[in-house]
Amino acid sequence: MEVRVCPRCGLPYRSIGTRSSGGRVYYYAYHGRDGEKVLRCHLGPETYEYATVTHAREGLLLHGAVQEGRTLSYLRALLDFIVRSGNTGLMRSAISEMEAYLERLKREVAVREKMEEDGLG
Ligand SMILES: [Zn+2]
Repeated sequence: MEVRVCPRCGLPYRSIGTRSSGGRVYYYAYHGRDGEKVLRCHLGPETYEYATVTHAREGLLLHGAVQEGRTLSYLRALLDFIVRSGNTGLMRSAISEMEAYLERLKREVAVREKMEEDGLG
């Protein structure tokens, strides 16, 4: 059975629930009970409407923690914005940043894969 890990606290959770407030739906990771106390983590709404407004120019739709894959979605949205901007200075800066991060990502993946091979991961 796949262990589902809470994106907020990192502990396994039993289920995802929702609660409505002010006409909006909010998500929770339900961890169980400790006596009378319900243990759950607030994961936010599916999307953050108010925060998204201030990032509309960049095309960034901000998701709550319930949305898996939001990290790459943010990255793609920002890269699309940089390309659409037509700003060559910004594009050159982005290329420079990405080249540095690409090397860092490759090193990090290589180290982690080696640890997994050696049974240390
Ligand atoms: Zn949690």
